[in-house]
Amino acid sequence: MKNNIFSLKNKVAVITGGKQGIGKVVAGYLADAGADIVIFDLAEASDVAAEIANEHGVQARSYICDVTNPQDVADKIAQAGSEMGTLDLLFNNAGICLHKEALECTPSEWSKVIDVNLNGVFYVAQAFARYLIANQKTGNIVNTASMSGSIVNIPQCQASYNASKAGVVHLTKSLAVELAPKGIRMNSISPGYIRTEMTGTVRQDWQDIWVDMIPFKRMGTPEELAGAVIYLLSDASTYTSGSDMIIDGCFTIV
Ligand code: NDP
Repeated sequence: MKNNIFSLKNKVAVITGGKQGIGKVVAGYLADAGADIVIFDLAEASDVAAEIANEHGVQARSYICDVTNPQDVADKIAQAGSEMGTLDLLFNNAGICLHKEALECTPSEWSKVIDVNLNGVFYVAQAFARYLIANQKTGNIVNTASMSGSIVNIPQCQASYNASKAGVVHLTKSLAVELAPKGIRMNSISPGYIRTEMTGTVRQDWQDIWVDMIPFKRMGTPEELAGAVIYLLSDASTYTSGSDMIIDGCFTIV
């Protein structure tokens, strides 16, 4: 019988933005595939770590970490590496969204979105890759981009978010090439509209328009992203790096 090429056993996975939404659900599935789990979030998430450890029988810890602060990121990666024994995988997922017309957007609003969604992804990827190289390890990173990196959403205005996510897609390709000689792979996922805390509070008439525009006629769930992340983080995808997997119920192809 062949080995399970999707297994994440004996790996430790860091998930940023893992307190809720996509990060929390995907963290549970990574644990189900055998990985020990490290949650990074702005908010305290020991409840999530305990829940995952109990349900899946893996080790799980959480750290308060602001992905926009490179020193905090480097410190927490070092601390998690030492307390977990090692780190192997990264789901670089924390992000925020701002619905505001570009003409009304202030410099600080613009900068905040770019800082979390693009700079934060870079700081965490950089610190994680430095950790792997310093510890003579290979490893594997999945960044959360968005279909908004390749299309312009309507009716809401979200230029800062769209630009940040286009940046994540191309950052992923750029780092994939730079890190290939070091044995580190990096891919991105680009979800369409997914039901989470981020989208749940958006006005209902906009949500109705989105659902009407999606060929699947429904929003996706975080669970429907988990298989892609497991695939990209596992040995099922050892020849895949710099790719972007769009998971959007056909939204971007019509
Ligand atoms: P949520 O808002 O539900 O979760 C995002 C998590 O990231 C929260 O726990 C949040 O913490 C955390 N976070 C925010 N800022 C920081 C920071 N500076 N440092 C550390 N953690 C932070 O969002 P989703 O789960 O919906 O989204 C997850 C990712 O998926 C994001 O990158 C998003 O852009 C992307 N995405 C989402 C889609 C969707 O339709 N939901 C579609 C396409 C992409 P706190 O709440 O404490 O601020």
